[in-house]
Amino acid sequence: MRIAVGGGGIAGLAAAFELEKIRRQGADLEYALFEAGDRLGGSLASDIVEGAVLERGPDSFLTEKPAAMELCRELGLGDQLVPSNDSERKTYIVIRNRLVPLPDGLMFLVPTKLLPTAFSPLFSLGTKARMAMELLHPPTPNGYKDESVAALVERHYGYEVVDRLADPLLSGIYGGDAAQLSARAVLPRLVEMESQYGSLTRGMLASHRQARRRPPPSAAAGDGTGSARPARSALFTTLHGGMQQLVDALTARLNPASVHVSTPINALERDPDGWRVDAGGFVSIYDAVILALPAWAAAALLGGVDAQLSEDLAAIPYSSSITVNLIYDQAGLNLPEGFGFLVPPSENRAMLACTFAHHKFLGRTPPGKAVFRAFLGGMRNEALLAEPDSALAAIVRRELREILGEEVFGTFAEPEHVQVSRWRRAMAQYAVGHKERIQRIAARVKTLPSLRLAGNAYDGIGIPDCIRLGRQAARELMADAAIAPPTASQVSSAVS
Ligand SMILES: Cc1cc2nc3c(=O)[nH]c(=O)nc-3n(C[C@H](O)[C@H](O)[C@H](O)COP(=O)(O)OP(=O)(O)OC[C@H]3O[C@@H](n4cnc5c(N)ncnc54)[C@H](O)[C@@H]3O)c2cc1C
Repeated sequence: MRIAVGGGGIAGLAAAFELEKIRRQGADLEYALFEAGDRLGGSLASDIVEGAVLERGPDSFLTEKPAAMELCRELGLGDQLVPSNDSERKTYIVIRNRLVPLPDGLMFLVPTKLLPTAFSPLFSLGTKARMAMELLHPPTPNGYKDESVAALVERHYGYEVVDRLADPLLSGIYGGDAAQLSARAVLPRLVEMESQYGSLTRGMLASHRQARRRPPPSAAAGDGTGSARPARSALFTTLHGGMQQLVDALTARLNPASVHVSTPINALERDPDGWRVDAGGFVSIYDAVILALPAWAAAALLGGVDAQLSEDLAAIPYSSSITVNLIYDQAGLNLPEGFGFLVPPSENRAMLACTFAHHKFLGRTPPGKAVFRAFLGGMRNEALLAEPDSALAAIVRRELREILGEEVFGTFAEPEHVQVSRWRRAMAQYAVGHKERIQRIAARVKTLPSLRLAGNAYDGIGIPDCIRLGRQAARELMADAAIAPPTASQVSSAVS
């Protein structure tokens, strides 16, 4: 069986890794991974500069979604996992150039602790009164119609919570806009709580109580690798040498003859024997295809195969973003504790968020150095992508000085190193109606049994979901072809 995988981001790499394990087991399987760019990893990319890890793209993954952690362990990276420094897990919102900490007890945008919310300078008195009244919100009648996150949050807590919480948090995660993102796709838990309890605060408190009553998972019910779980309870996990370590470990496990960088899939057609794939100008026939591409790229390839499928894929919006990493000498700084800050749109700044990377993950920055990781762009400010690196660095430095003030930066603090990275149309936006669109896409893909789609456009934009979907795509094709998955001992010999 011959399989073409399009896209060497984390989803395509995870799919290829799964296929490689089965190939090594002796299955009659050949695969080819085609990546348009000159490197593998897609959005995952990091460098080590002056001993500091600089993440150009994602800096970590959510610990509670197991797929990324499991893959790291399977690749022998268990001892490289670094938990977030949760003892210092404080996030600030910038309000008129002041850092205001998020009040304790906020869960998925929902305030669950009375006193910290009541005393927080983040919200006005009117908003606090509205938060108290929210406890009386009646359940929604059956037949919830999808709406934006902004609409859902505003109905419950008012506009200020959209501006100061929902928008900054979502632009930090999705580079997105709360007025466009789908509540059902992005915050399904809140939608369920509203239909059951009416009040989101009551719903969140009830779910918290239930979670506390559940017994903790037994230590024996681990991941089967027997490795220590240093990062288990931390919110985020990263790798000691940066997310690039995951890309490098995956690449090292693949068959070099199967990996083709700087080789875009240019065209895709159905063929009586499967699929005719033009990759980098060479045409070959494959029995099956996994497209682990941005939805807009998959749409372009599938236009002649299934117009409806292509149209739905093309309609998934994408945002672009910019990361600016700056290394400073800590001697001139007086930074508050915490992971960093988020900037509401009403502050009218270019910066969307900034991570204090040396606080968030310990041991990845040399002693005495500080790393700031600023985000710009997003749905509201794509024009910034056209600015030269020097202008972007100057904007970030000016805004950092204005937000953090002279007490943090002194008067003359200069960064020792600046790194700018642009991510064009990299982040899928789950807009209102996303779930229905994904159902239509899945139904069309079912009519093309030897095609699978994977990547951040469908069922989760984070790294764990992309890994899950990539591996699942490969496994499904193997199951359809009645090729058995490898046993545990075959897996360990394949990865060693
Ligand atoms: C700045 C930034 C910060 C982020 N932070 C986090 C974070 O901290 N935690 C987290 O979990 N997630 C984060 N994300 C999201 C996460 O990194 C991405 O959703 C995920 O990496 C996407 O993986 P993917 O394989 O679906 O797509 P991509 O990484 O976009 O890979 C798709 C690949 O397809 C290639 N391609 C396109 N067209 C073709 C073609 N015709 N033929 C062949 N190849 C083609 C592209 O070159 C690309 O390499 C972040 C994303 C960005 C951009």
